[in-house]
Amino acid sequence: MKGLSLLSISRDFVGVHAVAGVSLSVDPGEVLGVIGPNGSGKTTLVNLASGAVAPSAGKVVVDGVDLTGASSTRFASAGVVRSYQGLRLFEGLSVLDNVMVGVQRGVRPSLIGAWTRPPGFRRRERRLRVAAMDWLGELGMTGFAAHPVGALSHGQRRRVELARAFAADPAYLILDEPGAGVDPHQLEGMTGIIRERCGAGVGVLVVEHDHGWVERVCDRVLGVADGVVVAEGSFAVVAAHPALAPHLRATAP
Ligand code: ADP
Ligand code: MG
Repeated sequence: MKGLSLLSISRDFVGVHAVAGVSLSVDPGEVLGVIGPNGSGKTTLVNLASGAVAPSAGKVVVDGVDLTGASSTRFASAGVVRSYQGLRLFEGLSVLDNVMVGVQRGVRPSLIGAWTRPPGFRRRERRLRVAAMDWLGELGMTGFAAHPVGALSHGQRRRVELARAFAADPAYLILDEPGAGVDPHQLEGMTGIIRERCGAGVGVLVVEHDHGWVERVCDRVLGVADGVVVAEGSFAVVAAHPALAPHLRATAP
């Protein structure tokens, strides 16, 4: 019963079948990659898998629980955590606060004195701070913990976003183009920690345009075109599909 599954899922926007009858499942401990041309429905799939948009038809099931139509908050409490193609960080807050706020929206940076809060709250905040610092350390960002996010490079912001996702202790991690706007070296720097978390049982669903990276990191790949899955299997098998091969050649680095 374990797994994050989309079952015959569709999502229409006005006049557009963005996703049309897709089924996929991410198992704990695997990295599933999704590739396809621009506009083929990859981000919509990510939005469906994380509860950010509701399906027009079909179901989303997380570890045996039907979450179709549930809020993204409900998905998050079922362990589904995602990152965004365009980053969503709080520019004015410090790196550390961004990671902590992302994990628990109820824990806000200190606007009123900590003394007004009950002891349980302070204990929890301390634990959260330790976890946030641990993940910033894993991503080589310890020295930036007190810096405002607004002062960071794009690659550093990606790492903050990833630290925030990991600090939330996901069962399933969904990444929409982690390589967007960062150089290949920085994307490579995220590989070890993604594989390590995967080894610890996290299921990862990742959309990425850097196909060399997809080939190295993913256990399994889905190829999508015009809202449908056209190929599934190893990167080599999917990349050879006639609907995808011309696109892959066009975007090869
Ligand atoms: P990809 O991530 O593969 O580039 P998307 O999932 O973003 O593709 O988009 C798939 C299709 O759905 C595109 O034709 C896009 O224009 C359309 N689409 C996506 N989101 C919306 C939206 N909120 N409103 C209208 N059309 C949308
Ligand atoms: Mg997209």
